[in-house]
Amino acid sequence: MNSAPAPAEVTAPVNLLDLDREGLEAYFRQIGEKPFRAQQVLQWLHQRGADGFDAMTNLSKGLRDRLAEQCVIRAPEVVHEQASADGTRKWLMEVDPVNRIETVFIPEPGRGTLCVSSQVGCALACSFCSTARQGFNRNLRVAEIIGQLWVASRALGDQQRITNVVLMGMGEPLLNFDNVVTATRLMMDDFAYGLSKRRVTLSTSGVVPALDRLRMVSDISLAVSLHATDDVLRDELVPINRKYPIRDLIAACKRYVGRDSRRKITFEYVMLDGVNDTPAHARALVRLLSHVPSKVNLIPFNPFPNSGYQCSTPAAIERFGDILREAGLVTTRRKTRGEDIDAACGQLVGEVRQRGNSQRFQRIHSVGQ
Ligand code: SAH
Repeated sequence: MNSAPAPAEVTAPVNLLDLDREGLEAYFRQIGEKPFRAQQVLQWLHQRGADGFDAMTNLSKGLRDRLAEQCVIRAPEVVHEQASADGTRKWLMEVDPVNRIETVFIPEPGRGTLCVSSQVGCALACSFCSTARQGFNRNLRVAEIIGQLWVASRALGDQQRITNVVLMGMGEPLLNFDNVVTATRLMMDDFAYGLSKRRVTLSTSGVVPALDRLRMVSDISLAVSLHATDDVLRDELVPINRKYPIRDLIAACKRYVGRDSRRKITFEYVMLDGVNDTPAHARALVRLLSHVPSKVNLIPFNPFPNSGYQCSTPAAIERFGDILREAGLVTTRRKTRGEDIDAACGQLVGEVRQRGNSQRFQRIHSVGQ
């Protein structure tokens, strides 16, 4: 009896940007190659920005052909780029036909910080953040997270280097745990971007169980979006507080730094006029942080239409900061950068394609001032 031929195996190509060193080693083992090929390929991809296999001259022609057959190198595609008068650059990148994200590069003397997105949109609904208004579309894959560094490094060329990465773009990184952790491994791998743990910072609104998981698998730097010192106010500003209240969050922060006295957590505190910016709030913050190794980063609120909030006055921010500093807390005020191109904190919205209209992308919010 003639049996029907077995259907050809249909496997999706492996996107090499999805794999960290361990993942690449496993792939090479699986195809009968030596695991050290992973290091060579990582260097080609992430240090030299290779976008094809022909350039990988320390691999045999046979292996290059095989990679070309089985793999792709697919990063998000830049659809729009803007440069601010202050040197900040922002890229709008397409990750699939219906989703776009934003990535921001902030040059400063002696360093260059890339602000990376971890999700399309965000599910957390913080009341003062314009990304939140967009709602949540999906998690980014590893290739779409590390791909933001890959794209930005290639665009910046030799003149400007990415020395720091902050996961402070769109999304809540701890709600895309596995992909974010794998991407941060690549950021810190000496064969890829080689950044130290002090130069890779994850910012979270305080997903307590995920913070505990993170400390088991990673030692990247942590920033926590605190914004309020009592649960009533924080419930309103950062609604995930209803699930993980301040006391639990602070306890998790202490567990994160553990016994390493050199480590500090950065607490972000957005300055909202008449909401959380009085001297009494500052004193409450001093008390709250008295037993956590901390730094405070005061963020002037970046307004957007119908936000219902206003930024604190410069005098209120000054006074607030002085109270913290007098109590011995290292306190910085975040410089607002890239405002003219809507690249500042809480202004990243990306774009989603309007449902039912396949031709046009729409900004769902027009942000900025
Ligand atoms: N979801 C993560 C990552 C976002 S980081 C987090 O909450 O930490 C972006 C930082 O900018 C957060 O501290 C966020 O609270 C703050 N932010 C959001 N909207 C803002 C706005 N309109 N003005 C100033 N800061 C804002």
